[in-house]
Amino acid sequence: MRLLIMGPQGVGKGTQAAALSKHFGIPTISTGDIFRYNLKNKTELGLQAQSYIDKGQLVPDELTNRIVEDRLAQRDAKGGWILDGYPRNASQVEALDSMMATAGTELDYVVALQADRTVLLERMRKRAEEEGRSDDTPEAIATRLDTYERETAPLLETYGSRGKLVSVNGVGSIESISHEIIAALETA
Ligand code: AMP
Repeated sequence: MRLLIMGPQGVGKGTQAAALSKHFGIPTISTGDIFRYNLKNKTELGLQAQSYIDKGQLVPDELTNRIVEDRLAQRDAKGGWILDGYPRNASQVEALDSMMATAGTELDYVVALQADRTVLLERMRKRAEEEGRSDDTPEAIATRLDTYERETAPLLETYGSRGKLVSVNGVGSIESISHEIIAALETA
């Protein structure tokens, strides 16, 4: 199973990706987690990405595409994966298409989680208190939501027109949302 999980920041992509990963026995590949790991360990990649991440902007495509390509080539990703946080713009969609064409694989579904901006802002405010991420400042949060609306939300139409989209309401209990996603994927 090869899945994308898409939706605005704060909608619960990471939590639902973990549930899907367990259910289908496939790894979750989160570009945000890869960047955070590199920031924490002050790697070359982390240093290159830091200023963009702190401002809530997208890291340049060239850098981001390269880390995804490397990660997808690893052994544990051969049988399937869930991509969380990638692709985030049209050029990343093209890059992923070409990586998959080269590998001779195809995307199965794109899970889109949805919630209102007020719900998202409240969840992110809470997360900022609990986790203290450097990019959870009010300015960076607003920039991320705006970037999502402008660059990422239109990709749902792209995948919808390819017949790959499964849309699920992201408001509710974690378990009920997971059940809904899994049921939708298994009957799609
Ligand atoms: P996330 O945890 O997915 O919200 O990602 C945290 C930050 O990492 C984002 O605000 C971006 O700065 C960067 N990032 C993560 N994924 C991508 C991507 N696909 N393209 C560009 N930047 C990304």
